[in-house]
Amino acid sequence: MDKELLAMLVCPLCNGKLKYDREAQELRCHYDGLAYPIQEGIPVMLPEEARAMDADEKLPTSPGRASGSASGRASGQSGGV
Ligand SMILES: [Zn+2]
Repeated sequence: MDKELLAMLVCPLCNGKLKYDREAQELRCHYDGLAYPIQEGIPVMLPEEARAMDADEKLPTSPGRASGSASGRASGQSGGV
């Protein structure tokens, strides 16, 4: 996938930036919880063709936050080990 092309792509629903998943060959919008498939190297930017992501993958926040890490748990527990 061309990186310059990727940079131009936004979600057709929310105009948010998409995250390219190379292994899955998907472009993901975490705000809408949709993953747009890339077929033969061409992104299919149709909401009706997109895969609905698990609630787990979906961001609870709206576009605007620039943080991109989705690993780990953000629970507020203190103490422990
Ligand atoms: Zn979106």
